[in-house]
Amino acid sequence: MAQESTCPVREIRQEVASALAQESIKEPRARMRAEKLLVLLEDIAQGRAGSEHLADLKAVARSLTERQDAHGADLGQRILSLLESQGEIFQSHILTRNCASGACDMLAPAPCQMACPSGIDVPSYVALIGQGRYQEAVNLIRQDNPFPWVCGLVCTHPCEFVCVRGQVDSPVAIKELKAFAAEKALSEGRYLNPPKEPATGHMVCVVGAGPAGLTAAYFLALKGHKVTVIEALPMAGGMMMVGIPRFRLPREVIDREVAFIEELGVEFRFNTRLGVEVTLQSLRKEGFEAFFIAVGAHASHRLAVPGEDLPQVLDAVRFLRDVAMGARKRPGERVLVVGGGNVAIDAARTLVRLGCREVTLLYRRSRSEMPANVEEVRQAEEEGVRLVFLTIPVEVMGEKGRVVGLRCLRARLSEPDARGRRRPVPIEGSDHIMAADAVVTAIGQRVLTEGLEHLDLRWSSWDTIVADTITAGAGREGIFAGGDVVLGPATVVEAIGAGKRAAEGIDRFLKGLPQPTMPAVPVRRARLEPWEMAASLKMDLKRCEMPLLGPERRRITFQQVELGLGEEQARREAHRCLRCDICKRCGRCVVVCRDRMEIDALKLGYVGQPGESPTDFRMTSERCILCGACAANCPTGAMQMEDRGEERLLILGGTILQRERLERCQGCGDYLGPSRYLDFVRKRTSGLAQAFAGRLLCEKCARRATAESKSGMSVPQG
Ligand code: SF4
Ligand code: SF4
Repeated sequence: MAQESTCPVREIRQEVASALAQESIKEPRARMRAEKLLVLLEDIAQGRAGSEHLADLKAVARSLTERQDAHGADLGQRILSLLESQGEIFQSHILTRNCASGACDMLAPAPCQMACPSGIDVPSYVALIGQGRYQEAVNLIRQDNPFPWVCGLVCTHPCEFVCVRGQVDSPVAIKELKAFAAEKALSEGRYLNPPKEPATGHMVCVVGAGPAGLTAAYFLALKGHKVTVIEALPMAGGMMMVGIPRFRLPREVIDREVAFIEELGVEFRFNTRLGVEVTLQSLRKEGFEAFFIAVGAHASHRLAVPGEDLPQVLDAVRFLRDVAMGARKRPGERVLVVGGGNVAIDAARTLVRLGCREVTLLYRRSRSEMPANVEEVRQAEEEGVRLVFLTIPVEVMGEKGRVVGLRCLRARLSEPDARGRRRPVPIEGSDHIMAADAVVTAIGQRVLTEGLEHLDLRWSSWDTIVADTITAGAGREGIFAGGDVVLGPATVVEAIGAGKRAAEGIDRFLKGLPQPTMPAVPVRRARLEPWEMAASLKMDLKRCEMPLLGPERRRITFQQVELGLGEEQARREAHRCLRCDICKRCGRCVVVCRDRMEIDALKLGYVGQPGESPTDFRMTSERCILCGACAANCPTGAMQMEDRGEERLLILGGTILQRERLERCQGCGDYLGPSRYLDFVRKRTSGLAQAFAGRLLCEKCARRATAESKSGMSVPQG
């Protein structure tokens, strides 16, 4: 690895942290100020500071110099001098969220980590899996997300959409790897909760035991606060428990992960609704100082067509909840599901498992506009769900109080609008009736606002709470909100991210600390050496295939469909990672080799250099002379050139691009370099070559040979 350069932000942050850890600042008020300084410096080093942070830093540092604590006063003075002499560097951290020296490594995370709503350090946990260190991988994930197994099974994996390996062939199966590690860690033992901070005495009430609420509870408990979660349902999990079917997310997965949150001292009150069994006032009287409203979006939008009130028209959210709670009644034999999202697909696949003879899903746009996960759609079709596109329902047909069909119009798609969306336009005269004895609607969810009115919060026109996207503050002292109740129906991992942000906002509120003004840059949790492998092997590793339960079995059981990766499969998959936490894809290596050395040995299309052809790590070995110019110019140390025993190697983030035997000096026997490199040098120093009489010589021996040939005398060794 390249030597890390220094950065005043990083250095002073470390000094303050160690002064606090070693308790060298004794005076209580001086310590409080030092704690504030640490928060401010961490914000700056993590790219989450606002313009007022520098003024705050200066003010707190100055007040520290005035306290009766020599060490504290000294630190305060150091900060004031640094701000004076290197203020621009602090400023640039705030404005660009970049650290020019590269020392503040959190300011340049890999794309997959940046894309993860919960900010998991993906490259590090993938690397740990590649090394067979599964428990450590899970511990690392749980520093940012308490639900590795849940996310490993149901996450929409935005990380994979930006995975750089996808530019080479296909993305790393990040989600599947997470599930593998979590299952393995639990089968071999248990999760270890991160260390908990000492009790603060503050009490927080979390309203809603879904992914957002549970995540906030986890992080708040780790901060030492006393957390109570109130939940309307009789169990924890929220939409994970009652919205996602068991065949995708078994109940025991949620139960086991929730148990580790409970172990932190989090208390649960089930069958308790805010605004019914308890109110904000009654909870305040119990001593709660902060509240996190995370009640989810458990109601469905209506189709708004005639006939919708017939009893065989069900909303998908309610239908899925009933099935999750144990109901196994078929709503009909021929069922139409209206919608194109994941809830619609989940409902359709559940209907198949309940034994419905015909399940048809209607969507008003085409397949390519379907918001549902492509893999889930494929699995649904394998299980026998029929998909009908470009169809708009206009009336539920009924006879004698029972559904007999759905009158629909066919549609075509309009030209894309300003946002690129293509609207479905009904085709005149395309009226037709689709026979059915039940209809399940899944056209979107909304928040149930009943019971929340007394909170006196601001609501958007979509009936969601208006809350700050960074701190989750909902505009009233001590009240925070997040998850679906703010975002509208979101994914599990988005809710987890919201819970994590809220925990930070609540913790700062309770401690009277300044709130961040910029979104957090995810934290790099480890710095692991890359796994070494030959370029040809790295290229040959193809994305793993998740083994699935056979479609026939799936149609009759709620058994989990994804059977999980095997150990060998998981480790191979992990080795596909390009370690973008180390290589920042600046492309300097490509430019140096091509333009300065005029060799053009690096075919790294994914670094995005103009005119670069697709990536092929194997091509380097055909041309590379192992001169080391690329490694010498690599700003992060991702490209390394190393002599090992008899060989010289060129390695990029663990991928061995070139290796060649080292030639020895025929004079003294010292290693000289690989023959290709020597040829390259020899061509450029051809005049001298004659003097060596065709022998390979090191620099010292060459000098002596030249001197001897020029003088005609023997020059002594040494
Ligand atoms: S290749 Fe690895 S580090 Fe790079 S984006 Fe994909 S998972 Fe992340
Ligand atoms: S070591 Fe190889 S790849 Fe790197 S600059 Fe030299 S010739 Fe190009």
